[in-house]
Amino acid sequence: MCINKGGLLKLNFHSSVAVNKMLKHLSQSFSELSVLRRLIFAIVSLPKDLPDLWNIAIKFAAGENVHLSESDVKIAIENLKEMDAAAFSKDSELLAELMKCESGKSSKPLGIVLLSSIQFCRECSKPLLVRKDRPSSIVMYDDILGTVPCTHYHRYCSSRRCDYKQYYGYHTKGGSSEVLYDSDWESLPYFVSSRETAFSNKLLCRINGEILVGQLSFMQCADLYNHLHNYHTPTGEISR
Ligand SMILES: [Zn+2]
Repeated sequence: MCINKGGLLKLNFHSSVAVNKMLKHLSQSFSELSVLRRLIFAIVSLPKDLPDLWNIAIKFAAGENVHLSESDVKIAIENLKEMDAAAFSKDSELLAELMKCESGKSSKPLGIVLLSSIQFCRECSKPLLVRKDRPSSIVMYDDILGTVPCTHYHRYCSSRRCDYKQYYGYHTKGGSSEVLYDSDWESLPYFVSSRETAFSNKLLCRINGEILVGQLSFMQCADLYNHLHNYHTPTGEISR
C-alpha cells in the first residue's frame, strides 16, 4: 500500500479530483478493481465491530495468497469512505433504488427485470433479438422482497419467416399463443405463471414445503406470506 493518513489529509476531501486521486492510489494498491469491490462489499456487509474484521475482509477480497497490510487497507478504505460515503451503500439499498428507476420510455418503475438469456431460436437457430419497445409490466411475488413490480422483456427470432418468441422461462412458436415452458425453467430464479404474474422459485419452494411438510392449506400459505411481509387482508382474518 502506498497510502497513508498524513498524505491524504492534504487532499480536498470533497472534490472529485481528490476522489480520482484516491481511486488511482487504490487501483495501484489493489491492482484489480474486483479486489476493491469485494473489500467494500465485505466492509458494508459485516458488523464494524466484528473481531478480526479487516483480516476477514482482506482474505475475502484478495484471497489467501495475497498479502495486504491490514492497517494500510483500513486507512485507505476509511479515507475513501470519508470522501465518498455513497460508495458504501448496502446492496439492498441500491437494489431498492434501482428498482424504482423508470423502465425505458415509460414512467413505470423498472422493478425486477425478466429477460431470457437464450440467444438463439429453438426452431431455426437464427439469433434472437430483444423487443425493446414492448416490455410488459407484471407483478412479482418474492420471498424476500414481497410483492414488487416487474418488467418482462421478450426476444423474437431475427428470421422474418419464423414467428418464434422467447419469454422468461417459456416460449411460443408459429404465431401460436400456446405457452411452452423451457426445460430449465426450474433452475431460473423466477417463474412467470401468466402474463400478469410471476413468483420467485424460492417462494414456490417454500410454499411447496408448507403444503407438503407443514400440511398447510394454500390459504394459510397466503396468510403466512402476507404476515411475513406485513400485508394485511381486508378483513384481517387468518385462515384456519
Ligand atoms: Zn427462428
